[in-house]
Parts: sequence; C-alpha cells; structure tokens
Amino acid sequence: MAGRNFLFVPGPTNVPDRVLRAMTVAMEDHRSPIFPELSRACLNGLKPVFKTVTGSPIIFPSSGTGCWEAALTNCLNPGDKVLTARFGQFSHLWADMCTRLGFEVELLETPWGEGAPIDRYLACLSADKQHKIKAVLVCQNETATGVTSDVAAVRQAMDSVGHPALLFVDSVSALGSIDFRMDDWGVDVCVSGSQKGLMLPAGMGVTCVSEKALVAAKGATSRRCYFDYGDMVTSNASGYFPYTPSIPMLYGLRESLAMLAEEGLDNVFHRHHYLAGGVRAAALEGWKLKLCASAPRWFSDTVTAIMVPDGINGSEVIARAFKRYNLALGAGLSKVAGKLFRIGHLGDLNELMLLGAIAGSEMAMLDVGVKLEPGSGVAAAQNYWRTHSPVIGANAA
Ligand SMILES: *Cc1c(COP(=O)(O)O)cnc(C)c1O
Repeated sequence: MAGRNFLFVPGPTNVPDRVLRAMTVAMEDHRSPIFPELSRACLNGLKPVFKTVTGSPIIFPSSGTGCWEAALTNCLNPGDKVLTARFGQFSHLWADMCTRLGFEVELLETPWGEGAPIDRYLACLSADKQHKIKAVLVCQNETATGVTSDVAAVRQAMDSVGHPALLFVDSVSALGSIDFRMDDWGVDVCVSGSQKGLMLPAGMGVTCVSEKALVAAKGATSRRCYFDYGDMVTSNASGYFPYTPSIPMLYGLRESLAMLAEEGLDNVFHRHHYLAGGVRAAALEGWKLKLCASAPRWFSDTVTAIMVPDGINGSEVIARAFKRYNLALGAGLSKVAGKLFRIGHLGDLNELMLLGAIAGSEMAMLDVGVKLEPGSGVAAAQNYWRTHSPVIGANAA
C-alpha cells in the first residue's frame, strides 16, 4: 500500500526520525572504557523524566511487563499481601501476575471506565492495623479504558493512616506524556517501558526504584536472578550492565530523552492534554459517542477509548480502518472486546497526524454502518485545536 501506515495504537507509538537515525549504529563493546558515557547519559537523563533525585532508574532488556515482575520479586517475600484495584486489562494483568507469582492479592474490583477508588484503598489500608499489606499497586493510566488515576491521592491515603507499605505504580502509558512524580508522590517503584511516551521501539523495560525499595530488595527473599535490582544497581554505579545491553536502544533513548528535554516536560504534558482535547471533541461533540472513561475526571491524555453504538462491533471498525485505510487503531481488550476502539495519542504527534486518525476512524465507522455526520469528528477536532493554545499559558492564535 502506498503512503504511510498510520500508527495510532497506544503503544508502540511513532518513533521520531531523529531517534531512528540515532539508533542506526554499528555494534560496539559494552565493556569499553567509553561505554559509561552512553549509559550514564541514559540513566541520569531518565531522572528528570521520573522527577526523582534520590531514586535509581533501571533499564532491563524486557518490555514493561518484566518491570512489573521485577517490582514484585525484588521487594516482596513469598506470600506477601498486596493491595490493588482492577479496572481494565492492564491493572488486571498485573494483579494476575501477583497471584501467579504466589502473592496474596486484596483486589478492589472497580467498574471499567473508572480509576483507582481512593476511598476504598483508604478503607483497606486503615483496616490493616497489623500492616499485612506490603505493597500498594496502582495503574496510573489504564490503557485499555483510557482512564487516568490520581496517584498522589493514593499516597495521601497511605500517609493519612501511617501505612508503611511500598507504593508501586504502573506508569507505562503515562511516563513522559502525563505528569509523574516519583519523589513528590513517594513512589517506591515506577514501572514503564520504551514503546510509549519514550518514543522508542519495544524491548526496554524502564523502571525507577526508591531508596526504600532498594533496602526492601536487600532483605526480600522472593526468587529472582535476571531481574535482580542489586546486580543492576551495582553494575550501573560503574557505568556498566550485568549483561549485554541493547546498544541501539541506548542510543535511541539518549536521543528521545534529549527531545523531551528540548521541548520541556511541562510543554510535553500540555501538548498531550491539548491533542487529547481534540480527540475527545471529535468523539463526544462530533460523533456524539460515549467514551469508556465514565467521567471527565478519568479522561486520559494519552489514549481515548470510544464506545461504538449498540449493534456495531468495534472489531469491525478496527479491521476496516486497517485493511482499507492503513490505519492501526487500538482494540477493545477482554471485557470490552468489540465494544470500543481506541485512538492512542501519545508520543511524537501533532494535530494533523491526529486528524488523519480521526478522519480514518470516521470513514471506517461510516463503512461498517455507524450513523454519524461525515466530517463531524474532523470538524469538532479542528474547532477544538483552533480555539485552544498548543503553548502553555498563551491564547490560541
Ligand atoms: C503497555 C502497557 C504495559 C506493558 O506492556 P508491555 O507490552 O509489557 O510493554 C503495562 N501497563 C500498561 C498500562 C500499558 O499500557
């Protein structure tokens, strides 16, 4: 098919040409005396992205899922209790991993479309007088439903009852796109990956661990080896890795970190919020459809999950968009399979790229029988962007 494939799944995201070029390198010795220059640029460069001074960024050769496992097996003892909420496929998978690894899960079942239920977290923590809960897990941005949760409020709930558990946050589809604050929020492990806001191919698990988590890891007896924080932190201190890192990925990361720094994180977050506003306008005002996120307080700035009308299968919209228009949209996962499609709007994006995704979604929906006004989504997004500023604090113009 001629022309570009339009990649609008919420990860992997578009890799900027600059990053692709930075990755086209010959292989080199990862034990050479100059290698630490590259590794330090990456590890130190990640600190402002996590908003941490005292935390240690760690890079594993995995996807985000590997970092979920690392958080659990490094910091907890076998059978330890964790508290988490399930409100989408990703929060489900992390909770499921806890069970499969032999941890005891206190699970807050939450409607898909809502985010972390702070009052219920608080009730569990306050009832746990013996401090049996060793870790509190929260998915900052539930990619399956397009819902963002208030991580700071989870920390406040823990502090308000003086609960000493560790706080683990899945920020895979938020980090580098939606504000995340490791130190301010007292996060002990932040889990992320390379293929979303960091604008890289998949294959790098990017995580950050607090001093408290590293102390816990020293004493924790769960089995782990390849994902051992201690081995990694010890090697990283001298600028090396305990095993062979992916050199092209490190060059890519160094470049994507430079791009985020050049734009400025606050501007990056604002751009995501601004672009998301146009997508939401298309869905709500243009197409008159509902979002999976059930209230504005949950709306995600990195992914929008759009409910298709009754009698329409969301999978057909996605299949049509892909086959006919070369547009990749995100599918409805598990409980919401067939009921929605998702537009990812994170990473290296601007208005006109998103208008392509909106126009393509609109055509695909019309083709499979959704009743909507042709052009209505495109017009609503155009109006939104023309009347809102892409720059922080400036008037539109
Ligand atoms: C993408 C994603 C993951 C991890 O997926 P990988 O495919 O292992 O990188 C985890 N949590 C959320 C919220 C995600 O969006």
